[in-house]
Amino acid sequence: MHQPARNQQSIYAPRPCRLLSVTELTPNEKLFRLQLCDKTELQHQPGQFVQISIPGLTEAPISVASSPTRKGYFELGIRKAGQLTSALHRLQAGAQIGIRGPFGRPFQLDALDGKALLLIAGGCGLAPLRSLIQYCQDRSDEFASVQIFYGARSPEDLMFQQDLSDWQSSHNFSCRYTVDNKPATSCFDGETGLITNLMNDIQVEAENCCAVIVGPPPMYHPVIASLRQLGLNKPKQIMLSLERQMRCGVGKCGHCSIEHLTCCCDGPIFWLEEVEHLRGAL
Ligand SMILES: Cc1cc2nc3c(=O)[nH]c(=O)nc-3n(C[C@H](O)[C@H](O)[C@H](O)COP(=O)(O)OP(=O)(O)OC[C@H]3O[C@@H](n4cnc5c(N)ncnc54)[C@H](O)[C@@H]3O)c2cc1C
Repeated sequence: MHQPARNQQSIYAPRPCRLLSVTELTPNEKLFRLQLCDKTELQHQPGQFVQISIPGLTEAPISVASSPTRKGYFELGIRKAGQLTSALHRLQAGAQIGIRGPFGRPFQLDALDGKALLLIAGGCGLAPLRSLIQYCQDRSDEFASVQIFYGARSPEDLMFQQDLSDWQSSHNFSCRYTVDNKPATSCFDGETGLITNLMNDIQVEAENCCAVIVGPPPMYHPVIASLRQLGLNKPKQIMLSLERQMRCGVGKCGHCSIEHLTCCCDGPIFWLEEVEHLRGAL
């Protein structure tokens, strides 16, 4: 017989949440700070996602962008893409929305313990990675070092700009970011070029290193090639997130399958060696 998860809470029933604040990150992305209406913690792990809904509209999977070590709220960084996310972008503090979850396989924190971390994000991928980055900030003694690399299309697409400068000055951390192109009129004086340009001069002991990649599909092959060149060639050294269009979020509908795996349940976080041989995975 079907057993509802989480203390009789149905996996299909949205839980009401209150919107505490909305902050503009870029012209297309906003950060939503939320709290469950019953004031309990979401109890997610970095890398997990929720299915977010507005009554009368559809649902969409959105990664949690804050760490469970930050209590009393959780945050979602949402790009305006279609009907639901546009409606979310029109909401203001005080509004109520629904969430299901948290769902999915998180980043494998045990495997990162004591390691030198290379955390690599492209575009909107910084949202899920931020949950792990904040976790590392709050538990910095558990990691040898944390190097963050982030690439965006243009200066105005750089998300979490305040966080980027905070991370540069965090204990044990370094943070570098680049934009593909900058308009001639832009006063942006940071680096330009692809994210792999930032990775040419990485100093790491490959033996004790673990990399995490979250970004758009075209980023994966070149970034993985750069990591291989650095010497990250053993199993369980490269973790990545595979996002596919999803429906149920709980492994029932098969909408997000890649061969025998479902991205919503077996992922979205995978070890590279679990998926690199699967057709259409990377
Ligand atoms: C595990 C997971 C985590 C995600 N986390 C985030 C997040 O943190 N922030 C965020 O802004 N978005 C995230 N997304 C993407 C988000 O779920 C989609 O953009 C969603 O469909 C938007 O809903 P909508 O109704 O506004 O737009 P829709 O009308 O559903 O779609 C708008 C456009 O986006 C395309 N699309 C839908 N889903 C995806 C997808 N997974 N990959 C690529 N294109 C897609 C559609 O084909 C369509 O062209 C995540 C997706 C997954 C699977």
